[in-house]
Amino acid sequence: MARAIKRPPSKTSFVWFLILVLFVSGYYYNNNETNGDVKDVSFSEFRKDITQDNILDSKVTLSGSTIIYETSKNVNKKTLKEPQAALSQILSDTEYQELDIQIKQEDTFWLEFIISAFPAVLILFFFLFMMRSAQSSNSQALNFGKTKARLSNGTTSKTKFADVAGAKEAKEELKEVVDFLKSPKKYLKMGAKIPKGVILVGPPGTGKTLLARAVSGEAGVPFFSISGSEFVEMFVGVGASRVRDLFKNAKKTSPCIIFIDEIDAVGRQRGTGLGGGHDEREQTLNQILTEMDGFETGANVIVIAATNRPDVLDPALLRPGRFDRRVVVDRPDIKDRQAILEVHARKKPLKKNVDLSAIAKRSPGFTGADLENIMNEAAIMSASKNLKKIGQPELENALEKVALGPEKKSRVLSDEERNITAHHEVGHAVVGHLMPDCDPVHKLSIISRGQALGITWYLPEEDRHLYSKSKFESELCAMLGGYVTEEIFFGQVTTGPSNDLERTTAMARRMVIEFGMSDLGPVTYGEKNHEVFIGRDIGHSKNYSEKTAYEIDLRVSNLIHEAYKKTFKIVKENKALITKISLDLLEKENIGRDEFESYFK
Ligand code: ADP
Ligand code: MG
Ligand code: ZN
Repeated sequence: MARAIKRPPSKTSFVWFLILVLFVSGYYYNNNETNGDVKDVSFSEFRKDITQDNILDSKVTLSGSTIIYETSKNVNKKTLKEPQAALSQILSDTEYQELDIQIKQEDTFWLEFIISAFPAVLILFFFLFMMRSAQSSNSQALNFGKTKARLSNGTTSKTKFADVAGAKEAKEELKEVVDFLKSPKKYLKMGAKIPKGVILVGPPGTGKTLLARAVSGEAGVPFFSISGSEFVEMFVGVGASRVRDLFKNAKKTSPCIIFIDEIDAVGRQRGTGLGGGHDEREQTLNQILTEMDGFETGANVIVIAATNRPDVLDPALLRPGRFDRRVVVDRPDIKDRQAILEVHARKKPLKKNVDLSAIAKRSPGFTGADLENIMNEAAIMSASKNLKKIGQPELENALEKVALGPEKKSRVLSDEERNITAHHEVGHAVVGHLMPDCDPVHKLSIISRGQALGITWYLPEEDRHLYSKSKFESELCAMLGGYVTEEIFFGQVTTGPSNDLERTTAMARRMVIEFGMSDLGPVTYGEKNHEVFIGRDIGHSKNYSEKTAYEIDLRVSNLIHEAYKKTFKIVKENKALITKISLDLLEKENIGRDEFESYFK
């Protein structure tokens, strides 16, 4: 929503109210002042004054029900009569005829005016109020197209490259951008064109936003940021007008950085959508392209965009002169993970013997955001335990919590369920251990976490980038280990392994259609773009015939059946061992790597 400045309506109303109050009180004050030295007396005293002939010149003034007179001793007196009663009647038993009664029109003009005007004023207020709110909603509607990009605190970001651990190549590339922003003349003199757009590509949480901020911080230039999804609003055309507005603002403050987060939300390939949303997206994208082309060479505004789906971006965005610089921000390797942990440990008190490299080793595939989360969880845990410093156990616990989800100690399992779960997990672990190429078992647990009743946690010895067919086959067996164990030990399977089966099938399928690991040969099937993007998917996702589909299904099922046979053999042969470990696991709830491996010596 646009941020229209909403004045609190109470302020002006208050002023009006104040004026009214002043008015009224002024009236009364005035009245009181003229009668300042008048003595209030009772009606009977008035009567007495008449009978005793105490009234100066017998002069009495009657104004409404108020009777004012002056005594022969020069005292001004005032009394009240009943409003309806005539003075002649009340005084009929006295010699009132001798009085010189002056009847004055009661001075109630202002009072009457205020009383009669009050409803009108009320209505006026009401209208003013209505108009005010109508106006503000109007201006909100008009402001709708205004960009929501914020100048981060008016100036530059405080983040520096030093706050971004690892990501060496990305930083290297971005240092150039910083230099362009700092000293554009140097490049212009050489006749070089300063790049207009940089696109940061990488999985969520790897630090793309952080890097963009760091560029602004290093170059000392303002940072405008907007998210792709913010462009797309209720009304068609808003996105385009936001873009126009954003670039206009940016050019005014150049040199500066425009950061478009999640650009895939607007930058998808055009001409593919079916629904209404796509028109809007297309207009917005066109506007971005137009604006980027419209920069003069000296504009010194660099647009940084971020996405985790570069594959869906419109090629027009990526051509030279637009986002032609692509910086890949990948998941950190073990060294970078340690560095990231160190960055986030900076402001936290750590015990001296804390070994962050052990945590880094055990967190393959984690992103910077995950690692930050580990440090934070560890800090929370330590604080809630009233510790002075964060120790290794807290870090390990935090790692587990982030990797596997929080423990659910409150979930109560029956003895039978616990027994089945223990056997199931041990089945996974033993099969995994005995198959070649499988990652070592890091931990076995029958404490529920999230959806899972138990967990077998495999961890690779080191970060892995390539996976062989034999590794996949071993993993298929390990994943089936739970299912097969339940079948052999309890004579039937439960619903427990359904997730295992899903993953097994998905993996076997990918081996066939993506990796060419079956006798269908080195062919990939289906578009890699799995995500549904209306229109595109309907036409293209399945690019093979029904016959091929049948062949694929056959290979998938073959792979799984082969794995099943192997697994069955292993579990059968190791029944005694599985029983033994299961009993221990039931008792201890957790078994670590060293202990687990000692069963095989
Ligand atoms: P992305 O934009 O790629 O989704 P972010 O830049 O928002 O990810 O990163 C999320 C958080 O993770 C950051 O705020 C930062 O604290 C942490 N983080 C990610 N990568 C790093 C890194 N290389 N060094 C330090 N912290 C990082
Ligand atoms: Mg981000
Ligand atoms: Zn399982």
